[in-house]
Amino acid sequence: MGNRFQDTDSDTESGTDGVTAATTAAMVAERFAQGAQYIGGRLRPGTSGREHAVVDPATGKTVHTYELAGTADVDAAVAAAREAFPGWAGATPAERSEALHRFAGVLAEQADEFARVESLQCGKPLKLSTEFDVPGTIDNTAFFAGAARHLQGQSAGEYSGDHTSYVRREPIGVVGSIAPWNYPLQMAAWKILPAIAAGNTIVLKPAELTPLTSLMFAQAATEAGIPDGVVNIVTGAGRDAGEHLVGHGDVAMTSFTGSTPVGKRVAEIATSTVKRLHLELGGKAPFVVFDDADLEAAVHGAVAGALINTGQDCTAATRAYVQRPLYDAFVEQVAALMETVRLGDPFDPATDLGPLISHAQRDRVAGFVDRARGYARIVTGGEAPKGDGAYYRPTLVADAPQDSEIVQAEIFGPVLVVLPFDSDEEGLRLANDTPYGLAASAWTRDVYRAGRATREIKAGCVWINDHIPIISEMPHGGYKASGFGKDMSAYSFEEYTQVKHVMYENTAVIRKDWHRTIFGDR
Ligand code: NAD
Repeated sequence: MGNRFQDTDSDTESGTDGVTAATTAAMVAERFAQGAQYIGGRLRPGTSGREHAVVDPATGKTVHTYELAGTADVDAAVAAAREAFPGWAGATPAERSEALHRFAGVLAEQADEFARVESLQCGKPLKLSTEFDVPGTIDNTAFFAGAARHLQGQSAGEYSGDHTSYVRREPIGVVGSIAPWNYPLQMAAWKILPAIAAGNTIVLKPAELTPLTSLMFAQAATEAGIPDGVVNIVTGAGRDAGEHLVGHGDVAMTSFTGSTPVGKRVAEIATSTVKRLHLELGGKAPFVVFDDADLEAAVHGAVAGALINTGQDCTAATRAYVQRPLYDAFVEQVAALMETVRLGDPFDPATDLGPLISHAQRDRVAGFVDRARGYARIVTGGEAPKGDGAYYRPTLVADAPQDSEIVQAEIFGPVLVVLPFDSDEEGLRLANDTPYGLAASAWTRDVYRAGRATREIKAGCVWINDHIPIISEMPHGGYKASGFGKDMSAYSFEEYTQVKHVMYENTAVIRKDWHRTIFGDR
């Protein structure tokens, strides 16, 4: 049985209240007529001489064309951020906090517009942008508005007897950040907010495919009264604009979210210029179902966790390990539930699942599944529906060996692999058996099993009886090849600061005791 596949012509009036891809594209054309670089508080065109098209993946139609940033645009953005730094770093925490509170208010006023543009450039169902991406971003902004007043050194006191020591946390300077295309608005928020809350200024390079909501986010910062140059966006290609930003001598820190292979290249460049580095990389999250789990909850959790954002989520459930007594029922019920998911126009409120980000990504996902046909069983899906959009049906793959490509590699599409296990030890060992360690979940009603899973699974987040929820107060980041550093939470806030030890001599004695190591008794 296939999925119900609806008309994907986004020009139709399938959206509510005239909200369609076409009306949203018209809004985008007007809004970005001046260009797609946001430097020093205003939009301008890029100077690379190369055009790039933002394409609606639901139809394959071009939404907006803009000139990519070249290295000169990166230089201009870094110069603007450098100029804005002393003033912003010198603002009081209360001043920065107030500006961020206003920023959250501007975002809330423009929530509908943000959701529409995010859906248009990514192909996300409007209900996902409206209920997840946009409110998550507003909440993050409100969180960092609060956090801005709570930056603390950990200690102050007379540790040597004759001295008073304390710790200052200072902004680092200009931060250069690079973001991927899967959650462009949230990624912009995760990069920009902790950086500026701590008093840094920033240049963000979003992915070329999805620059629009990052630009809108920066414009909203300006509307909220955040000074020009504090938030700058360069919309260029990775190879030139991206590498130039990472290697720039005036950039003090690189924060990168993207794939592990590109992260390695970014690390090489950042290391050679001695920068602080923060890497949020790929994932291949395990989903471990013990034999006492609530099967219905696990089945719904697996389908939702695998298909969110059409599987283009670094924490998506990708490998379900199911203890033998539940295995057959789990496979059957997950396949049946996947087949009820409705693919269609992202602007249609009835749509559950949108297209992949591009036809290239769809073909890449199909390639993984096609190669797996030689060694595994495609239980459902495994094909693209007819039509112009970059859609791919929800896919369940069984009987693949643990060391096969489909189990080990990050696919970044609506594909779940399911494998059986016998002992608890085996399930946890298999869960840890990939290079990645970003997120994982364990499903059980046994508190000891749950505790063991949280201790033994090597991942930056382990959920018990759920998979996917994130909250602004808690850190997001990986183990192993999923990178290092944290987004969101007070942990990320601290990473955007420099720790300085200040030590005061308290006695006014001219000849200190320790001077004997130089002068002896003289
Ligand atoms: P990608 O690595 O291809 O690109 C990410 C960004 O890096 C883009 O802005 C791109 O232009 C830029 N880039 C490409 N080559 C570059 C280079 N040589 N130097 C500097 N910048 C360069 O990733 P993607 O395809 O955009 O996104 C999907 C990947 O992102 C997946 O691997 C996913 O797991 C990962 N991701 C991770 C997290 C996390 O929090 N760990 C979150 C979201 C996405």
